Amino acid sequence: MIINFTCSIYKFLSLYLQYQFMKKLFLFPISLFVLSCSTGQGNGPKEITNADVTKYMNTIVPADLKTHLFIVASDEMEGRNTGEPGQKKAGQYLIDNYKRMGISFPTGAQDFYQKVPAEFMARAFSPKLNDSENIWAYIEGSEKPEEVLVISAHYDHVGMKNGEVYNGADDDGSGTVALLEIAQAFMEAKKEGYGPKRSILFLHVTGEEHGLHGSRYYSENPLFPIANTIADLNIDMIGRRDEAHKNNGNYVYLIGSDRLSTDLHNISEAANTKYTNLSLDYTFNDVNDPNQFYYRSDHYNFAKKGIPIIFYFNGVHEDYHQPTDTPDKIEYDLLAKRAQLAFVTAWELANRDNRPVVDKKGK
Ligand SMILES: [Zn+2]
Repeated sequence: MIINFTCSIYKFLSLYLQYQFMKKLFLFPISLFVLSCSTGQGNGPKEITNADVTKYMNTIVPADLKTHLFIVASDEMEGRNTGEPGQKKAGQYLIDNYKRMGISFPTGAQDFYQKVPAEFMARAFSPKLNDSENIWAYIEGSEKPEEVLVISAHYDHVGMKNGEVYNGADDDGSGTVALLEIAQAFMEAKKEGYGPKRSILFLHVTGEEHGLHGSRYYSENPLFPIANTIADLNIDMIGRRDEAHKNNGNYVYLIGSDRLSTDLHNISEAANTKYTNLSLDYTFNDVNDPNQFYYRSDHYNFAKKGIPIIFYFNGVHEDYHQPTDTPDKIEYDLLAKRAQLAFVTAWELANRDNRPVVDKKGK
């Protein structure tokens, strides 16, 4: 999750103005100003049952997520700053795991990397970044391989400051390891003859914290045509709970699910009812919500291109963008449940007869 205010003076100005004009129409343009400173069934002849889907869903377990996250968010990865050695080391860990699972890079790519050049990420008032990479893995669809579902999470974080590592366990180590587990669940199904009908691209994007660069790069240089990209499920911070849910963690904020496609929203709701029973909180999907999270993670670069998206998010907490966002504070059972929801939603999207219809304008 990208921080709302890249410069504290704007933060102060914004808070002051929001305070002054809280009840007036000024709020919306101010928020925009601040923002600009800174988002069927089965394979072939085999019939699949809900019990089968549940079985694959249940291969996403807290213990595996924990094992991955204690590595991805370890001090050794030095906060995974874009283009730095720590990030590249974390990226290598992801690739090693895809190879171990028997999942390759996408058809049409040369390897697991989509290079994102430093010049693309250069901005006047930001520190210069080094060349970096999106990382991609791919399971080809059995019936409609040309139609692609993207599941995304950013694997960069903010690096080190004053010798302290910003581990970014929740942001977005949680989404990063969720992708590994979701990919593994689809692969288990495929090995038993239930490969997805549509293709799935697992996209670990870079440069998010510096301005959603990796996802913007992909959306402008897509490996598969935008027109064939049926949806993006973006996971950014799903391992913790926020103050509003301190007494009940069985929730996830969904943002954007109904902005472009009523179908997508309904599919998501139905998948949750059938398999996971999380409380789906749409507080931040309100177009007037001052946080404007819809514009603050990587899904937005897909939505901008007219691709329906869902953003999975736990809300902010006291360790957000602090060196204290460490893997020991993650609630792994919650992380697993939310990753399972993304998995079953992805399952429906990949396997149902029709792709979700875009029937809205996305505001
Ligand atoms: Zn962030």
